[in-house]
Amino acid sequence: MIPPLYINLERTAVILENYIARNILDVRGRITAAAKRAGRDASEITLIAVSKTKPVETIEAAYSEGERVFGENRVQELLEKYRVLPQDISWHMIGHLQTNKVRQVIDKAVLIHSLDNLRLAAAIQEEAGKKDIICNVLLEVNIAGEESKFGLPACEVEKFAAQMAVFDRIRVLGLMTVAPFTEKPEENRKYFRQMKRLAVDISRKNIDNVSMEVLSMGMTGDYEIAVEEGATMVRVGTGIFGERDYH
Ligand SMILES: *Cc1c(COP(=O)(O)O)cnc(C)c1O
Repeated sequence: MIPPLYINLERTAVILENYIARNILDVRGRITAAAKRAGRDASEITLIAVSKTKPVETIEAAYSEGERVFGENRVQELLEKYRVLPQDISWHMIGHLQTNKVRQVIDKAVLIHSLDNLRLAAAIQEEAGKKDIICNVLLEVNIAGEESKFGLPACEVEKFAAQMAVFDRIRVLGLMTVAPFTEKPEENRKYFRQMKRLAVDISRKNIDNVSMEVLSMGMTGDYEIAVEEGATMVRVGTGIFGERDYH
């Protein structure tokens, strides 16, 4: 006779926690090494654990490893997790944001990484005004000019940044990009360099409401290169939590 399949949930939780703990340690080690290669201090770099599609228990495992900064790409999912998980977590909205979702998310996310059009800026200005808050954002740049991607074309970022001067409820803290998917991360180095150069050029313009202290770039496949090229935030999902199941 075949015995009944017995799943020890506590044991499963321990295995998950160990797996995530090991991954976080590995990613942090690689960030430190990449920073060192570039003559930078690793403390300049924030690791955002991208928890999209992952259940609350998985995030709790990372939380017990000391991780406090998480990234989500859908408003609904961010809000649900915000509601049930500890209040000392910093939630980053890293995905495309629709104007009709602004109201729900601006006082929950510490940073919105995806501002790329004026209509969205106007919506953030209005809703932040109603809540009497200042909203921190990054300008999303489609650095490789990919058809399928959101973000401002590189040649329009500076002009767009200048337009932010009238939005006194918005603080642009820097730039964000999702570099092309590639098996060879080295191929993205040129894009990360371009991002850094853009940020430096814009910061020289001294635009009201705009600073360029944050460069959010680099994902599981290419974050080490991004750190070498000046990233101050890297967004790592698969490298911490494993492959995602989309259903
Ligand atoms: C999913 C996602 C990531 C993380 O991707 P991984 O390759 O799993 O590290 C980073 N940034 C954005 C905007 C994402 O949507």
